[in-house]
Amino acid sequence: MIPPIARRFVAGESPAEALDHVRKANRRNVKVIVNLLGEHYDDRGPVRDDAAAYRSLVADIAASDLEACISVKPSQLGLDLGEDVFREELETIVGTAADRGIFVWIDMEDHTTTDATLDAYEEFARKYGGERSASDRDSDGTGGVGVCVQANLKRTRNDIERLADVPGKVRFVKGAYDEPAAIAYTDSSRVNTEYEALLEFAFEHFDGGIAVGSHDPAMIERAIDLHEEYGTDFEFQMLMGVREDAQYELAREYDMWQYAPYGNRWKSYFYRRVMERKENLWFALRAITGR
Ligand code: FAD
Repeated sequence: MIPPIARRFVAGESPAEALDHVRKANRRNVKVIVNLLGEHYDDRGPVRDDAAAYRSLVADIAASDLEACISVKPSQLGLDLGEDVFREELETIVGTAADRGIFVWIDMEDHTTTDATLDAYEEFARKYGGERSASDRDSDGTGGVGVCVQANLKRTRNDIERLADVPGKVRFVKGAYDEPAAIAYTDSSRVNTEYEALLEFAFEHFDGGIAVGSHDPAMIERAIDLHEEYGTDFEFQMLMGVREDAQYELAREYDMWQYAPYGNRWKSYFYRRVMERKENLWFALRAITGR
């Protein structure tokens, strides 16, 4: 059982608990990106199990009236075992999701995975979102594929030029992995400048399909300004348990998606949330003690 202190960040251990969380968030106009916790498998067994769990989750979402989609990790789908394994498993999920009109996000992991992840995204977005134009990237009920890009990587400016006309969506984040200085900006103010520059490019050149994956009030304000300037469609994305009041507030006016993980591998995810911001432990403690 997940202790209450971790429940702030994790929707539960079972798909039923995850969908129950979606229902509650939907009532507050927040849509949910469901992620099954798991990564870096070096054995095909758990890869197959997680892919099957995602296909079943997709079917459950499609059979419900819930506003939800899924997000998968390349190394959860076997990238450490080979790019062919990753693509094979990803295609089973994207194919099932496309048949049922459910959107699939691909998370971005460390820089050694960027090429394989973007190549798979581009191929599947063209194949499964192909009947739609780049300007028709709605993730509500029409299927499709999205990918995450990281502002801390120096290559990302080039990558998003390539992604601009792919008929999918792009989630912009600052980047969660410690990367070598040769290929990444390691200073947080430089990453912020880069994040803003990427948003500016996207709002000016994309037809839509922009996801602003940040809790940072400055980036949120910048995205709203850019939307007002260019009129480009976009959505906000934030993590479950982080700035939820802001999520409910933004949901009154904007498309708001919450990334909610579930599953029995919750310990390392909870540890990561606490380590990136020690106050999270305090917030979680306050939530359970009610003080
Ligand atoms: P930060 O730069 O960490 O903080 C800036 C400001 O935001 C803070 O000063 C504070 O005002 C506010 N803030 C931030 N965190 C909190 C908090 N816990 N509580 C209160 N205020 C806070 N990274 C990847 O590498 N790959 C992925 O696939 C990926 N997917 C993501 C999906 C989503 C939906 C989100 C939201 C993030 C994802 N990330 C991913 C993580 C991302 O790269 C960042 O590490 C993470 O979001 C922290 O950056 P930030 O922009 O939110 O804010």
